[in-house]
Amino acid sequence: MFSGGYLGRLLRINLTTRQYSIETIPDEKLRLFLGARGLGAEWYAREVSPQVKPLDPENKMAFFVGPMTGTPLVSTTKFELTTKGLETGRYLCSNSSGNFGPRLREAGFDGLILEGVSKCWTALVIEKEDVKFLDDDGWQGLEPMEARARLLGQLPDRKPKWATMSIGPAAENRVAFSSIFVDDGRAFGRGGGGAVLASKKVKAMAVWGDVPVPLADAAMCKEIAKNANIDLKTSRAKHRELGTAQLVEPINALGCMPTRNFQTSWELPEKVQGVYGQTLHDQYHVRNYACYRCSVACGQMGEVKEGPFAGAKARPEFESIGLLGPSCGINDMGAVIAANELCDQLGMDTITAGNLVAMTMELFERGLVSAQDNDGLEVRFGDGQALLEMLRFIAQRRGLGAIIADGARGIIQARPEWGKYILQSKFMTFAAYDPRGFHGMGLAYATSVRGACHNVGGYTVSEELMGKKYDRYAVEGKGQLVKTLQDNRAYIDSLGLCTVVRGAYKFSTAPTPETMLAITGYNFAPELMTIGERISNLERQIMVREGITRQDDALPPRMSEAVTNGPAEGHFISNQMLDVMLDEYYAVRGWDAQGHPRPETLEKLGLAEIPALV
Ligand code: SF4
Repeated sequence: MFSGGYLGRLLRINLTTRQYSIETIPDEKLRLFLGARGLGAEWYAREVSPQVKPLDPENKMAFFVGPMTGTPLVSTTKFELTTKGLETGRYLCSNSSGNFGPRLREAGFDGLILEGVSKCWTALVIEKEDVKFLDDDGWQGLEPMEARARLLGQLPDRKPKWATMSIGPAAENRVAFSSIFVDDGRAFGRGGGGAVLASKKVKAMAVWGDVPVPLADAAMCKEIAKNANIDLKTSRAKHRELGTAQLVEPINALGCMPTRNFQTSWELPEKVQGVYGQTLHDQYHVRNYACYRCSVACGQMGEVKEGPFAGAKARPEFESIGLLGPSCGINDMGAVIAANELCDQLGMDTITAGNLVAMTMELFERGLVSAQDNDGLEVRFGDGQALLEMLRFIAQRRGLGAIIADGARGIIQARPEWGKYILQSKFMTFAAYDPRGFHGMGLAYATSVRGACHNVGGYTVSEELMGKKYDRYAVEGKGQLVKTLQDNRAYIDSLGLCTVVRGAYKFSTAPTPETMLAITGYNFAPELMTIGERISNLERQIMVREGITRQDDALPPRMSEAVTNGPAEGHFISNQMLDVMLDEYYAVRGWDAQGHPRPETLEKLGLAEIPALV
């Protein structure tokens, strides 16, 4: 069926027995689920039972690439982690850039599965079809980049270079939102994959191979790559100049910026411009950072040159800035860079970490906790030093950090009265957008399969805030909008391509055929949106199997409170408004009133055949 793009091989490693095997992925499965996120969901449905808990030895982890991953086209860097995540306790899909996905392909595989638990701390080394374990007590306690350096120090030089993954102390301490770092700068940030890898006693992994991914039409791929580069030079020029940090100013100006733990959604410009993208660019920028074969190079490496945070270096993205910045009452890019760097060193997700420190600050502000409860540390809005110290407390499970390290799910269990101060859906915390300023984002958070997520849930920013077609405060029409965006994103996440560049390949809701034809020799274009819909329904059915109902497609109580200032003043999303959006969304999805996919919907999408789901 395919004359390129796929290797059709999967490497399965049993960490308990240290045996490994190579399996074949049938063409028909590749056609139905495309790759990366789609293959991960299909695998999870068959191999991870609803009863398994995230840190159980029976939990497994899969890393799948897409047909574009590692091809000579621009930004073909993405691969997908699928597992039961510690943050939500349910299905987790998470994607990352970096060289690991491309190098896994060059080693000869479209996927890697880890199962069981190693008898001691180890690092995995995959060199083509050879798998080695580097056992060593010295792995424990290292930061992700220290573990990477230590691992690379034990490996021979290779061309191309080894690609790595590694975890930090937060993962070892089972922080529910600990991440897995890829190479020296990207991560599976959300959902707690780091703690799952730590539960398997794998501190780091390296992969190497040098066999190029086969292409159906190499000359056409070269031509498409050339044209994409020309397109991106202009279409993504601002991204190159300011990165995602460019969003801070407009999102605040539109009244959608989480401010002091979402107590409001807007701040006076002079109280937020210290964390604008332009400020990062003018005062802190030292160089751009590019993922694998990416000409956009949107990463903005910043360095603090003076003041209390001098010497700190990080590449803060918009989400990290929003949640470690304004949501914590911080108007100092130096503090944000230092907090971002610390999260990277500890190995924690900046989004959830920022949210939960902001929650802690609000608990202090309301007098619900005191320094006595927190090992002597006061954590107040606007205090950058306290922000950093609280991040350390979380990773070390010290003071209130002992509770906060368990994420929204653990906090709500231990201290239900704090639940209303956590901005979350299905136990994953909000991204840096306040949906009271654009209600489709509320529906996206509520229905996102992995919990509140602006990407998986549907990135409505362009349509609701930047475009003219939608009234951002309307609830009608948002069900169809969110469904379409979710399905579009599901197929993009399955290609192995960075979403930032998808326009250059015309991977819209009406994709054109040339790119996938050149890579695989198969005309995927007419099927891509259906593949996205298939993946969305498969993931929903997995969540239904794990106990999700309509009640879980919810927003936290703060969303029912009117915004108190700024352009979105007076706006809110009541439960009734969410119900209107959910009714429309379920109807266009072909789900029943409880949000369960109807049998005929599963049948239509070819999902009725997956026995574990029915
Ligand atoms: S656009 Fe940015 S995030 Fe995407 S591949 Fe390029 S550098 Fe990485």
